[in-house]
Amino acid sequence: MRPRIAVVGGGPAGLTLARVLHRLGHPVTVLERDPAPDARPAGGTLDLHEGLGQLALDKAGLLAKFRALSRPEGQAMRILDADGTVLRDWRPRPDDRANPEIDRGHLRDLLLGPLAIQWGRGVTRVVPGARDDGVRVHFSDGRQDTYDLVIGADGAWSRVRPAVSSVTPHYTGVTFVETSLDDVDARHPGLARLVGDGSMAVYGVNRALVAQRGSGGHVKVYAQFRAPLDWHAELDLADADAVRSRLLALFDGWAAPVLGLLRQGTAFAHRPLHVLPVSHTWAHVRGVTLLGDAAHLMPPLGAGANLAMLEGAELAEAIARTAATGPGQLGEAVRAFEQRMWARAGKWAKLTTAGLDRLVSPDPAEAIALFDRLQPS
Ligand SMILES: Cc1cc2nc3c(=O)[nH]c(=O)nc-3n(C[C@H](O)[C@H](O)[C@H](O)COP(=O)(O)OP(=O)(O)OC[C@H]3O[C@@H](n4cnc5c(N)ncnc54)[C@H](O)[C@@H]3O)c2cc1C
Repeated sequence: MRPRIAVVGGGPAGLTLARVLHRLGHPVTVLERDPAPDARPAGGTLDLHEGLGQLALDKAGLLAKFRALSRPEGQAMRILDADGTVLRDWRPRPDDRANPEIDRGHLRDLLLGPLAIQWGRGVTRVVPGARDDGVRVHFSDGRQDTYDLVIGADGAWSRVRPAVSSVTPHYTGVTFVETSLDDVDARHPGLARLVGDGSMAVYGVNRALVAQRGSGGHVKVYAQFRAPLDWHAELDLADADAVRSRLLALFDGWAAPVLGLLRQGTAFAHRPLHVLPVSHTWAHVRGVTLLGDAAHLMPPLGAGANLAMLEGAELAEAIARTAATGPGQLGEAVRAFEQRMWARAGKWAKLTTAGLDRLVSPDPAEAIALFDRLQPS
């Protein structure tokens, strides 16, 4: 009999796992808390790297479709200083496919394709059983189901994680406040030129302002700053005018065109950055594993979704291989997957943690130096 497999979470990790398993003819149940795919805004844009996210899409048979949907020109990167002087203005070659950008919503729809997802199934708790009893999954509506393998792909605040690890995310000391502009070319042509085809960043002392263009003239803006977790204690975060005024005070003295990105933003979302410890591992638990942010939440510097997707694809392949070698091998396959994931994710967690220290740092020159080191000439 084939093992009953459930993945909790239909983000980049869970959907890639399910899509590769589907391609390999292996059944899997996807349990997603959101009531529908478009229940909340999909978010901004993701750059998918050649050896990570793009490799995962190749394993899912979706690379050609990704190439048609993605924006290679979105790799462009411009850096300004706080008085608006352009310090760096890097543009990719037209054939550069190293890290093209794709809207999160487009990626989700691409991965969803023919998959049947169980929407509106929020998991509250996962309880591993004794030897062949299976793993009990508890849902927010009080129901329960049993599976042979439960894969936690349910992000930063995973409800599956406590079944394998007592570790919880901690605050990095850096907060993002996100806003966005729509139809930027028609409505804010000056800001559209400032942002360019890809990303634009301005680095100051312990703060930065980053804007990223998505498709259809949509721009996401992130005000990034070091602050205690309760920095907003006196502020009503639902009051957009009050949040905007506070941000404008925080970035006081920066060039007017740069501050235009905050002035024109309509709604503001509060995103304090939390992370798991750099080398988060756990003693293997029969029938339960984690991948993506649930396993290794790290600063958002272009790796998280890429790792999540590649892990999803690799675990799917490992599971499918056990169909040939026998279901008794499933536990060994999961163990081997975990070792490989920990080694790779640990390296990226170190890199992105050091990166965040440089990008939101007391010395803005550190951010430029990092860009010069990483960007192809
Ligand atoms: C501002 C920002 C920019 C970023 N930019 C990039 C980038 O350019 N490149 C990159 O690689 N990474 C980027 N990242 C990181 C990336 O977003 C994450 O690493 C990635 O989304 C992790 O995917 P995941 O599937 O593990 O988790 P998630 O994307 O968090 O998906 C988890 C899913 O599980 C569901 N879920 C949660 N709890 C439950 C539950 N209890 N029961 C059932 N379902 C549940 C959620 O609804 C969601 O659908 C960025 C992050 C941020 C914050």
